[in-house]
Amino acid sequence: MQRADVVVVGGGPAGSATAITLARAGRRVLLVDKATFPRDKCCGDGLTAGALRRLEALGLDPARVASWHPVDDVVVRSPSGREATFPLPRGQGQYAVVARRRDLDAALLDVTRAAGVEVLEGHALRGAEQQPARVLLDVEGLGPVQARYAVGADGMWSPLRRFVGGADGYRGDWHAFRQYVKQVSPRAGRELAVWFDDDLLPGYAWSFPLPDGHANVGYCVPRTGAWTGAQLSRTWADLLERSYIREFLGPRAVAEAPHRAWPIPSSIDRATASAGRVLFVGDAVAAADPMTGEGIGQALQTGVLAAEALLVAGPDAPATAADRYEAALHRELLADHRMSAALSRLLSGPSGARGAVLLAGASAWTRHEFGRWLFEDEPRAAAFTPRRWHRHFLARSGAYA
Ligand SMILES: Cc1cc2nc3c(=O)[nH]c(=O)nc-3n(C[C@H](O)[C@H](O)[C@H](O)COP(=O)(O)OP(=O)(O)OC[C@H]3O[C@@H](n4cnc5c(N)ncnc54)[C@H](O)[C@@H]3O)c2cc1C
Repeated sequence: MQRADVVVVGGGPAGSATAITLARAGRRVLLVDKATFPRDKCCGDGLTAGALRRLEALGLDPARVASWHPVDDVVVRSPSGREATFPLPRGQGQYAVVARRRDLDAALLDVTRAAGVEVLEGHALRGAEQQPARVLLDVEGLGPVQARYAVGADGMWSPLRRFVGGADGYRGDWHAFRQYVKQVSPRAGRELAVWFDDDLLPGYAWSFPLPDGHANVGYCVPRTGAWTGAQLSRTWADLLERSYIREFLGPRAVAEAPHRAWPIPSSIDRATASAGRVLFVGDAVAAADPMTGEGIGQALQTGVLAAEALLVAGPDAPATAADRYEAALHRELLADHRMSAALSRLLSGPSGARGAVLLAGASAWTRHEFGRWLFEDEPRAAAFTPRRWHRHFLARSGAYA
C-alpha cells in the first residue's frame, strides 16, 4: 500500500499551493489528479495582483507560461453606456495578467513536482474512508493509499467532500460561461473589458486579452431560479451581438471552440472547511470572491493556509488542524468575503452599477485607486481591518517587479 503524510486530491492552483507548502516543510506529499496536464479549466484566466504575488511566492516563473499576458488598462462600462478606463501602475511590476489555465496550471504543477511532491496525473479519486489515525483513499490505478491527512483541492463538485460525507446539495453561486475568440481587434488584444449590462446584474460580461489576437470572452450571472438553461444559452448568443461588444472585439473576431460553462462557488462563510482528517481548499471550500467570481488567488491562499494548519498540528491532531484552518479562513478571508457580498448586492440594481462606475471614474485619482482595488492589490476589506494595514498601502510594487 502506498503511504504519504498528506494526499492532496486535485492539481489546480489550490492543490499545488497546498502541496508545495507542505513539501517545502519536509512532508511526504502525494498529489493525484484525474486529468492529464496540460488540461483546460473553464475560467476567465484573469490573475489579480493578489494571485500574482502568491504565484511569485510559490516560485512560478512567468516565462514557463506561454500565454502569460500582462494587462495595463481595465475598461468598465456601466448599464448607462458610460465607459471608464482604469489604468494600472506602469513599470513597477505586474498587477493584472491573463494566462490560459491550460498553461498556468501545468507550469504550477511543474513547480509542485520540483518541490518534491509525487504528482500522479490521470489518477482519479474513487473513494475515501476516515479511520481513527489515518485516512484511506482509493485512487484509480493505484489502489488504497494511506495518509495522516487528505486535502480536497478537487474543485467545485469535490468528490472527496462527497466521499467523507460533506456534500449538502450545494450547486455554487454563479453560472459562468467562457469562450476563446481569435482575430480580435488590437484594442481587445490589449485591454481588459468588463460590461455591466442591466440583464446580467449583479453579474457581468468580460473580454480578457490573450497573446496573438486572442481573448477569453464570457459572462456570469447569479445562480438563482430566475435563470433557466434556455435563457442562459440565449443570453450567450445575444451577448456577442451587442454593438459595443462586437465593436470592442472587432469585425474579424471569430469564436474558436464551443463555449463552456461551470459554476463558481463563493460561499466560504457557509462551506464545510474540514471533516475529520480532511481539509478542503479552493473551490472545494467555495472560496471565490462573491462580487467578481475570482477564485485563483483564493485557491492559492486557502491552499497555503491549510498546509500551514497541518504543519502546526502535526500528524496526530486533526481537531487542532481543523480549528487552526477554520480560524485562518475566518481571519484572512471572511471580512473580504462580506465586503464583496455587500458590493455585489449594491451592483444588483442598474442604479448601483451606474453609481459605482460614475464614482470610480470621477477623477484620475479615483480611476487609479479603483483599478488597484478591483485587482486586489490589497485585500478587498483592507480599509476596515487595521491589523492588515502596512506602511506601503496601495503603493506597493506589483508582482515580478
Ligand atoms: C467561467 C469561469 C470564469 C472564471 N474566471 C476567473 C478568473 O478570471 N479569475 C479567477 O481568479 N478565477 C476565475 N474563476 C474561478 C476559478 O476558475 C476557480 O475558483 C479556480 O479554478 C479554483 O481552483 P481550484 O484549484 O480550487 O480548483 P480547480 O482549478 O477546479 O482544480 C480542481 C482539480 O481537481 C481535479 N479533480 C476533480 N475531481 C477529481 C477526482 N475525482 N480525482 C482527482 N482529481 C480530481 C480536477 O481535474 C482539477 O484539476 C472562473 C470560473 C469560471 C467557471
